[in-house]
Amino acid sequence: MAVATAEKLETPTSRDFYFSDELWLSEDEKLVRDSARQFVAAELLPRIRAWDEGNLAPFAKGEELTRHLAKRIAGALNLFGATLPELGKYVGEAEFIPMTPSAYGAAMREIEYADTAIRSLASVQSSLGMYAIYAYGSEEQKKKWLPPLYRGEKLVCFGLTEPQGGSDPGNMKTRAEKTPGGWTLDGSKVWITNGFADVAVVWARTPEGIRGFLVEKGTPGFTVRHEVKWAMRAGTASALTFTNCRLPEGSLLPKTVAAPGQDLKSPLRCLSEARYGICWGAVGSARASVEEAIRFAKDRVLFDKPLAAKQAVQEKLVWCLNETENANLVALQLGRLKQLGKLHFGHISLAKYNNVDKAIQVAQRCVDVLPADVFTFEAYDAGRHLRNLQIVKKYEGAHEIHSLVVGRAITGVSAF
Ligand SMILES: Cc1cc2nc3c(=O)[nH]c(=O)nc-3n(C[C@H](O)[C@H](O)[C@H](O)COP(=O)(O)OP(=O)(O)OC[C@H]3O[C@@H](n4cnc5c(N)ncnc54)[C@H](O)[C@@H]3O)c2cc1C
Repeated sequence: MAVATAEKLETPTSRDFYFSDELWLSEDEKLVRDSARQFVAAELLPRIRAWDEGNLAPFAKGEELTRHLAKRIAGALNLFGATLPELGKYVGEAEFIPMTPSAYGAAMREIEYADTAIRSLASVQSSLGMYAIYAYGSEEQKKKWLPPLYRGEKLVCFGLTEPQGGSDPGNMKTRAEKTPGGWTLDGSKVWITNGFADVAVVWARTPEGIRGFLVEKGTPGFTVRHEVKWAMRAGTASALTFTNCRLPEGSLLPKTVAAPGQDLKSPLRCLSEARYGICWGAVGSARASVEEAIRFAKDRVLFDKPLAAKQAVQEKLVWCLNETENANLVALQLGRLKQLGKLHFGHISLAKYNNVDKAIQVAQRCVDVLPADVFTFEAYDAGRHLRNLQIVKKYEGAHEIHSLVVGRAITGVSAF
């Protein structure tokens, strides 16, 4: 067997140190990744700092910006719902461009290289909203909603979390009562990404257990109040309130039915889909932070030498690269498992547990390497990624909850 000599080997660089995209992604998957990278460079990176600061011009508010971004992501990348195998049946076979799980994941990684809030927009639209309608909806619901959601013409949100605690959705207070010809919904949801959406997937307790409903924007009794937050500022989250909110019969997602005690299965399946994308996205945030810190360390001269020439700085940069590239390998492995139909929610929990926490530590160390300007909105991105990642650690199953999921899997004992 011919063995390459050292001179012929390519020196690894900070972007994809292990050549893992090269070896593990197919040519089609690389094309999706490259399109996402181009889109991010042309449309997101030049504007993201201003959007994060709150300067949304020419958009008047977060909703307008989000709607614009959704149309652009759909138009440039055909990303929404792209891994749903039979989506073509609803959006038209000629129009639908399916993606493998790894292609979708790589696109999410590239988008979060720019910003978590924008990756979050795509996760909620694709994996929470469209997946719920696709997996649990009637034919009529799928025909009505999936095509405009795929095209980014309409937006969907996903209401599970309630004020008394998102980690314990079994303690759900929102109720749907059967009425002649429909349902009445009462309760509230908090921290719902894109709560202004055209349709909300809302989970509520019914006499048969927890079930999903489609609630259209503007339904009497349904109000939305936006939250102000210091992280993921380029996206919106809202509290949704339902007061004697009358829903038609056809609003129930009919396949969200499960045996007693199993009624969280449907919402948790949707969350698994979204968490898959999060595991990839965290790599993007970490990678953007490391690349920025390396660039700065090479440029900044202190004590007559570039910072990059200091051992203490190199050690930090290498720690960051190591954790980022390891997280990327974990994401690629999830993609393979998903493609093979072997991805268990325990795999996703361990990957989120690792990738997000490591991305936070990476962003923190990069902030340590960067100068004081990292605390402004205008210069540097690592501080913004650090802020955003704090939310990622809390949402979609908080870090501690994922440790309990994996702990139960390996010990057989529940410690919730
Ligand atoms: C920007 C943003 C967007 C969001 N988008 C959505 C959305 O679109 N849809 C949606 O439904 N929700 C959404 N959420 C809500 C999110 O999923 C919840 O915040 C999350 O589930 C945690 O719930 P909580 O905030 O009520 O915290 P709690 O559940 O009250 O938990 C508080 C803390 O206690 C820890 N904890 C809980 N149980 C245990 C335990 N057994 N052992 C040890 N520690 C424990 C948790 O890890 C957490 O750190 C979003 C949140 C944010 C911030």
